Amino acid sequence: MFIRNYSTNVSNLKGVGNSAKESYSSLGVKTYADLLLLNPRDREDRTKLINLEDLPPLFSESKQVNTFVTITNHSFFGAFSKTGRTLKITVESYFGSKKLSLLCFGRNFLQRMIKLNKLYYLYATVNYHNNELQASSFELYEIKDIDNPPPPFGQIIPLYPLKGSLTQKLIQKNIIEILSTDVKFEDELPQYMMNELNLLPFDKAIRAYHFPKNQEELLLAKKTLAISELFYMQIIARKDIEIHRNINKKKSIPSQLEIKFISNLQFKLTDDQIKSLKEIRNDLDNDGAMNRMLQGDVGAGKTLIAWASSLHEIAKNHQVAFMAPTELLANQHAQKAAQLLEPLGITIALLTGSVKKKQRKPILEGLKSGHIQLLIGTHALFSDNVEFKNLRYIIIDEQHRFGVNQREKLLSKGINPNILMMSATPIPRTLALTVFGDLNISTINTLPQGRKPIITHLVSETSRKRMYQAVGVEFKRGHQAYFVYPRIDDSGPQELRDVTNMFEYLKKEYPGVPSALLHSKIEDSEKISILNRFKKGEISYIVSTSVIEVGIDVPNATCIVIEHADIFGLSALHQLRGRVGRSKLQSFCFLVFDNNISELGKDRLKVMRETNDGFYIAEKDLVLRGPGDILGTKQSGFIRLHFASLVNDFELIKIARDYCDKILKEDATFIKLDNRVIDRVLKTANPFLEE
Ligand code: ADP
Ligand code: MG
Repeated sequence: MFIRNYSTNVSNLKGVGNSAKESYSSLGVKTYADLLLLNPRDREDRTKLINLEDLPPLFSESKQVNTFVTITNHSFFGAFSKTGRTLKITVESYFGSKKLSLLCFGRNFLQRMIKLNKLYYLYATVNYHNNELQASSFELYEIKDIDNPPPPFGQIIPLYPLKGSLTQKLIQKNIIEILSTDVKFEDELPQYMMNELNLLPFDKAIRAYHFPKNQEELLLAKKTLAISELFYMQIIARKDIEIHRNINKKKSIPSQLEIKFISNLQFKLTDDQIKSLKEIRNDLDNDGAMNRMLQGDVGAGKTLIAWASSLHEIAKNHQVAFMAPTELLANQHAQKAAQLLEPLGITIALLTGSVKKKQRKPILEGLKSGHIQLLIGTHALFSDNVEFKNLRYIIIDEQHRFGVNQREKLLSKGINPNILMMSATPIPRTLALTVFGDLNISTINTLPQGRKPIITHLVSETSRKRMYQAVGVEFKRGHQAYFVYPRIDDSGPQELRDVTNMFEYLKKEYPGVPSALLHSKIEDSEKISILNRFKKGEISYIVSTSVIEVGIDVPNATCIVIEHADIFGLSALHQLRGRVGRSKLQSFCFLVFDNNISELGKDRLKVMRETNDGFYIAEKDLVLRGPGDILGTKQSGFIRLHFASLVNDFELIKIARDYCDKILKEDATFIKLDNRVIDRVLKTANPFLEE
């Protein structure tokens, strides 16, 4: 059977009563399979001798020894108390004359068991205390034959996470019991793959994963299980797409509307924009729904491609919905869409939570009748009473802000609609390779021509004045700025600058320069009006929390000052920085940090100074924060890997991917005899089945 099919309940194991059963359950372990898939959190390597002689002459952190000793003496120490005095056993190294005291707190019974001048195997955690080498945590086993020391010498011992009444001994015993039955675990990969990659048979791999003979075997076991996991992750993510791809590969033709739209633009599309647009158009024309991510750095021109591709569906009499993460952005997009698309005769509507009932009615009617061709809004747009005539294309801006549930609700509105997700927080390459198999991602790598890279300065308290002057110079040139602080006001425990106080402070710094305050507690309608005045140039700078993080597009803004920069994630900083550098003007980003910043914090900020490459930053972020934060809940659940690591196993990811490529190309339904095992694993032992 496959490992995952071993569904016997753990309560059948020796020593597992109700309490252990419950403790197991809180570790997510219910069956034998679950227990076999439990990851050791650490391992004790007792294969190599570590003698007392190997210890440095003096040390402060405790050290491990794994060695042979003879017992030379024992005595008692400490005052008489209820529990009596404490036994102290003195041992001497078999390999020299170094001595060690074993303190037997609560273990005076050992006195009856030890034999003076006999040889023992000792595993101990050793400290220096009062100039004496001591250990209170130790194991002693008598040695009969020096060439055959007793176990656990020579073993690598797994240490599992513990909950409730569980002990290491019990878990180890239980796993040994499971592994000592007659059950043999089947291989989960095609034989040719196992051979070519020199993998361990799965039966051996799972045994060695828990109780390996040596480090080499452990490594092989890990590799076997990790490759299998990565392989199935990619197979599952890609098989349906691949089957679909093999069926139709039509080339689509741009509509008159789209051609007109593009020729009306003041600029030329970049090559990547053209390529992305083609990819989207091809998907839209193929049978089956598009599920594509359009990624590109902030300001790369994704939204423009969203409009252009909308026209492709509108030309077919289909409706399009564009969903933005905030009211502010929905407004900005609606304005831009009106400016670009209404001249082409397209009917556009904006629907957000704050649209009143009276205005709402004609919009709802227009959607139902099909009169409205493009609807822009926040997720309020998909509340229950909104009905479309023929919604076929949904564009989601900055998808990482949307939850899975919202996305599903949205799917239920249209007839299997095409979905385009746009993100400026690029999926790091490692993740793209695995979760998405690279297949349904369009990427805009280059920024529009003439953009100058943003110059980023790291600013300490001592250069604060100079920074204010530099921003002042930009104001004199007629340019605009953002000042970002992490908090709205000074309530709360931390010593952080806040927008309310800094707004007043900056008024004195820049007398007569018009400014505005922006944060989440300000009414949406007020926010929108501030933003409009900023766009028109009536306001020179905005003092804001990170609400301005996503999407705001004001090309004349050339400065952004971010204070306490070290408390923001790298991707968030990159997003914030992307509010500037959106035109041909030279832009500046000032990252202000506190005097007490950590080395790591400073290194992170240096990454920001050294690169404007969002991909690189996202990868750094992945390494620093782990993958869970980067994708939405569903994807991060999907990538909760057992054996492999998306961060460290890049080589294995590539190997698994190459096999996946080849197999999906040649035998996407796994009909070949060699590949049938894949089908069986998917049907009966799917490693990524949602629970
Ligand atoms: P994104 O959605 O990727 O952040 P946008 O589509 O909002 O980027 O584009 C950012 C700015 O650049 C907008 O003002 C847009 O009109 C402009 N823009 C888009 N494509 C180009 C291009 N090819 N050349 C010059 N400017 C462009
Ligand atoms: Mg955008």
